[in-house]
Formats: sequence, structure tokens, C-alpha cells
Amino acid sequence: MLKTKKNIDWSSLSFGYVKTDFRYVSNYKDGKWDEGYLSRDSEITISESAGVLQYAQTCFEGLKAYTTVDGNVVCFRPDLNAKRMADSCRRLEMPVFPEEKFVEAISQVVKANIEWVPPYGSGATLYLRPYMFGSSAVIGVKPAEEYQFRIFATPVGPYFKGGVKPITLRVPDFDRAAPRGTGHVKAGLNYAMSLHAIVDAHNQGYNENMYLDSATRTKVEETGGANIIFITDDNKVVTPKSDTILPSITRRSLMYVAQKYLGLETEERPVFVDELKEFKECALCGTAAVLSPVGEIVNHGEHILFDKENMGEITKKLYDTLLGIQMGEIEPPEGWIKVIEQ
Ligand SMILES: *Cc1c(COP(=O)(O)O)cnc(C)c1O
Repeated sequence: MLKTKKNIDWSSLSFGYVKTDFRYVSNYKDGKWDEGYLSRDSEITISESAGVLQYAQTCFEGLKAYTTVDGNVVCFRPDLNAKRMADSCRRLEMPVFPEEKFVEAISQVVKANIEWVPPYGSGATLYLRPYMFGSSAVIGVKPAEEYQFRIFATPVGPYFKGGVKPITLRVPDFDRAAPRGTGHVKAGLNYAMSLHAIVDAHNQGYNENMYLDSATRTKVEETGGANIIFITDDNKVVTPKSDTILPSITRRSLMYVAQKYLGLETEERPVFVDELKEFKECALCGTAAVLSPVGEIVNHGEHILFDKENMGEITKKLYDTLLGIQMGEIEPPEGWIKVIEQ
């Protein structure tokens, strides 16, 4: 059955929450997950002493559903989100939501909200937010006994409205992740403590913070919510290697695309602040934008300049190729595109 779309001006949507019709809910109690179900209720009632409220026991994921050139509604590599969430749960002493069930629940949510999936060519997508939190009461410091796993969907507009505009990063005096801490998992707590740094960056006129490794403060890590890639003068794609960087699915996909589709050399290695000026391009990568070019990095009075008007040449090739794969215009590697059966 062909469902009609919601009457929305897709291209003018921002990246914000819009309540959609259905969300997936599953509860963990007495040591096991229940069947899980779709709900029309967007509100949650939990104990005033829930683990999530007292000790921030929560983690999340983010991915998109969208319409490809041939009219399929698809998700990009949801199995990797399932796996990464399982890793986050293990680090936070939360019960793993089974990976196959995660992917199945994603399908259910997209299918139930199919009228909210923006059409091909609009640049908009249906953003999916899986998350889990400790729902039962704790007061002594320990993991909760009960948990809720949910996935909601919200339509979001094109990332680059009115064209691509390279952004400015600053190297902050704040750190994001401690060695052997939680930087490599998608924990809400990593974001809570980054809010002050981002508000401060915005107040000073910068778009984002480029965090350094907190042990030595000599190496580049990532921004608050995106990994970073650099292009060398001889067109190598370089990305920082560190145990405290969140393993971005977009970045891993881009490195594969660079090698297999564009024939470029790639390197995952420590990247020192001192060598930033030697790169010719720099970009952020993550689900929301795919790639967002960096025009300038400011490190305490030192200004490192890239192209401030346009996406760099190699960045653009990477962007066009990965977006083409996502949109069904370029043959994808096996298993990258999950079609939602309607
Ligand atoms: C989610 C996230 C990213 C981007 O990951 P994608 O899987 O590409 O969306 C990068 N850094 C941090 C800290 C994140 O939380």
C-alpha cells in the first residue's frame, strides 16, 4: 500500500525534535527484555530516583532513514549502530539490547512512521534516535536493575541549507575524554559535560571545539559530536587514531570509500597539533552532515587556514561518493544499505 506523505515543507525543517506517530519501547526487568512494542505515547514516567536521573546511566545512537533514487526507504548500516550501542551498554553496566532485535526495531519504527520519511531529493531525512536508560530507583551508587530501550523518529531538514559553508574550530582549554574513560562510547554523560565548552565556543564566535588528547594535549581527537579527517598535499586521507575517540560509522565508511572507490591512500594514526598546518583540507564527519568542511582552526592565537569558501576538492569527492552510495545512485558495498520492506 502506498501511503501518502505528511504535508511538511521538508526542505525548511531544522535539526530539531518533531513528535511523530510511533516509537518503539522495550523494558528490561527481572534479568530479561520483554517483547517490545510500538507506542503512540511520547511521554515517559519513571521513578524520581531512576538511575538515569541520579547517575546519568544512559547511552544513545543516531542514524537516518531516507528515500533513495529508486523509491526505496532505507537505513545506512544500522547493524553498526546496534553493535556500537552494545559496546556502550557493556561499558556503562547496562544490559545489551540484542543486535538483531535492534535492527528489527529500527525497521518497525520506520515502517510505522513511513509518512514521515522525506522524499528523495528533498535533502531531508527521518532521524532515528535509539537510546537506553536505567529506569529503576537507585540511591547507593550501582547500576539500576530495570532499563528501558526506546527508538523515536523525528524528521530533520537538509544539513547544508543555502549551501555549504566551511566552519571554524577552536582548540579549547576543556577536555572531552579521559584516558581509559568513556570517550569511545556514546554515553549521554560525554555530552552533558561538553555543553559548557560548546556554549563558550559559540559565545566566542567559533562553531565547534576541536578537542585534544587530555593526557598530553598534543594530539587531535575530535569535536563534541563528530570525527575529523584531514587531506595531505599528496591526497592521503588521514584520521586521528586514539582509544578515546568515538568510532564514527560515517568516518569508517569514508575511509573505505577513499580506498575502494577513489583509490586514495588512508592512514589512521596519531595526528599532532603541530602538523595541522601541513594539511590542505580538513572536515568533520558524522551522520548528520556526512562531511562538513572546516575553513579555519584557531589554537590560542594561531590561525590555521583552509578553504574558507568551499568544500576542498578531495573532501567533495568523498562527500559526493558516500552520499551517492547512501542515496542509491552508486553501487554500495555489500550490506551497507538496509531496505525497509513496506
Ligand atoms: C555520534 C558521534 C560521532 C559520529 O558518529 P556517526 O556514527 O558517524 O554518526 C562522532 N563523535 C561523537 C563524540 C559522537 O557521539
